[in-house]
Amino acid sequence: MDEIDTRPTAATRLEVPVLIVGAGPAGLVTAISLARQGVRSLVVERHPSTSIFPRATGVSTRSMEIFRSFGIDEEVRRGGWGIVPRQATVRWLGDPEPVEGALGFPDADVAAAVSPTTATVSPQDHLEPVLVDHYRSLGMGEIRFSTELVFFEGEADGVTATLRDRIDGTVVTVRSRYLVGADGHRSTVRDALGIPMEGPDDLGQFISILFRADLSTVLGDDVYGLYVIGGDAGPPTVLVPSGADDRFVFAIPLLPGMDAAATAAAFPPERCIALIRDAARRPDLDVEILASNAFAFSAQVASRLRDGRVILVGDAAHRMTPRGGRGMNTAIADAYDLGWKLAWTVRGLATEALVESYEIERGPVGRRNVALSMVPGEGGGTDDGLLEDLGAVVRSAVIVDDGSSEPASAAGADPSYWPDARPGARAPHAWLSIGEERLSTLDLFGRELVLMVAGDAGSWRTAAASVAESMPGPAVRIRSVGRWLRDTDGTFAETYGLSDGGAVLVRPDGVVAWRMRSAPTDMRRALAAAVAVATGRGSDADRDVLSGVVSIAGAHEEAA
Ligand SMILES: Cc1cc2nc3c(=O)[nH]c(=O)nc-3n(C[C@H](O)[C@H](O)[C@H](O)COP(=O)(O)OP(=O)(O)OC[C@H]3O[C@@H](n4cnc5c(N)ncnc54)[C@H](O)[C@@H]3O)c2cc1C
Repeated sequence: MDEIDTRPTAATRLEVPVLIVGAGPAGLVTAISLARQGVRSLVVERHPSTSIFPRATGVSTRSMEIFRSFGIDEEVRRGGWGIVPRQATVRWLGDPEPVEGALGFPDADVAAAVSPTTATVSPQDHLEPVLVDHYRSLGMGEIRFSTELVFFEGEADGVTATLRDRIDGTVVTVRSRYLVGADGHRSTVRDALGIPMEGPDDLGQFISILFRADLSTVLGDDVYGLYVIGGDAGPPTVLVPSGADDRFVFAIPLLPGMDAAATAAAFPPERCIALIRDAARRPDLDVEILASNAFAFSAQVASRLRDGRVILVGDAAHRMTPRGGRGMNTAIADAYDLGWKLAWTVRGLATEALVESYEIERGPVGRRNVALSMVPGEGGGTDDGLLEDLGAVVRSAVIVDDGSSEPASAAGADPSYWPDARPGARAPHAWLSIGEERLSTLDLFGRELVLMVAGDAGSWRTAAASVAESMPGPAVRIRSVGRWLRDTDGTFAETYGLSDGGAVLVRPDGVVAWRMRSAPTDMRRALAAAVAVATGRGSDADRDVLSGVVSIAGAHEEAA
């Protein structure tokens, strides 16, 4: 394992395996994912704290699954409050006949069929401190606030960066193996690399007013995730409940070309208060304006996510409109994909090919979500959002594509997502138990390569021990479902598409790397080849082995 760490070797020179620029959701999830794999990082954030604005409030099912794997899902949920996960189009905020529309999040009972957790509404200014505390609790790195990246230079084997303390002006040089640009949509890292953004950045301008008011008697018991308020005068405005503490965001469309000065002049606090009172039809409503800022709708993707040892993640890689509520959630999933890949490469458990697969796997997901966010109204995609959130099937050189197609039962499925254990898919949820303890298949993933075996796993264990002895790379943990772990609902083998003795190799990010529907005749050879491919060491010979593996039953597995 790499010896370098964040402890200073001199007051102005640090060494760290991974330098992360930006303490938003993307940077923090990358840092936590590295820490969970035993790799230190240094996170720098130019602001004195994490975001003081609620920003994203919708935390998707997949994001909550990731937080469950960190053990912080309940902490994240504590920032939320009961809300109807739909949008309401209303004439005014107390409209007794709201027209309901999709918000891209599933109802709890729909989510319960496919996940051990549920999406939640919890503002970003609650989420980010939870992530900071968790990262610090892991003791594998440091966050420096009021510290900005001012310069960096990439070399073949690493990056040298210059950081400036914005309070006392101190300058520090950091040498790292990788630099992660998690620095948001105005990414200085991306700009310095000269990576252009593609797509429109002028899809509408808004002023966003953060205020506090007691709207409980106006909104009633059923508070929606978002209100589109269509008055008679002018284009609709939007209200987003943004915290259990009576905070709301009120967004008003701006005329094209209004700059910051014109916006500030057009919307003094008295006018903002008057507009909010109008929307609530409460002339005497007590409104406290907390902040306001202008923002533009953009739908852009970076033309590349990587330049040598420098990698873009989150909004730095793709900027989407708020429609569909996918910006932050895509950033979190990107970071969860990237963190373990960087860690395993730094630790020598995998080759650079694993880091390369980040862009290949996550690039298409970001581009799709950006495109969906351009669809007017509620944004594109399925009503419950599950297909986009859980259903991505990624392809890359570290995934053994076995040519299997979408399960027949998925066609026209309602809900939109149908569990699928094809290579490249998120390994599905199924309830298992051990003794009195109930756990999800998802609770078994997060740190290692896990081989989920249907039925007796004795021969797989022997094969895994032999692979561990003979080749470098990570250990494979064997989980036998049906023996050691009980298949509580009797759904595991069918959901995973396995017959007795078949197995699925799952990566730390919960993505299926390889599936062997039934036991192969030469388990050792098959498993060695699959682990080699999953860690970026796969050769053509390994691929040949995997495409020609014969199951004990004698039938050829579906080959690519
Ligand atoms: C009003 C609003 C509503 C939204 N609603 C939703 C929603 O409902 N659902 C959803 O999923 N998404 C939503 N989003 C989008 C979401 O907020 C972003 O997608 C998310 O914050 C992206 O996370 P990130 O970590 O990539 O970037 P950011 O959160 O932007 O973090 C980047 C960080 O990098 C720091 N930084 C930048 N340059 C430097 C530098 N040189 N040195 C050091 N630090 C630097 C910045 O200060 C910042 O803190 C919304 C956004 C807005 C504005």
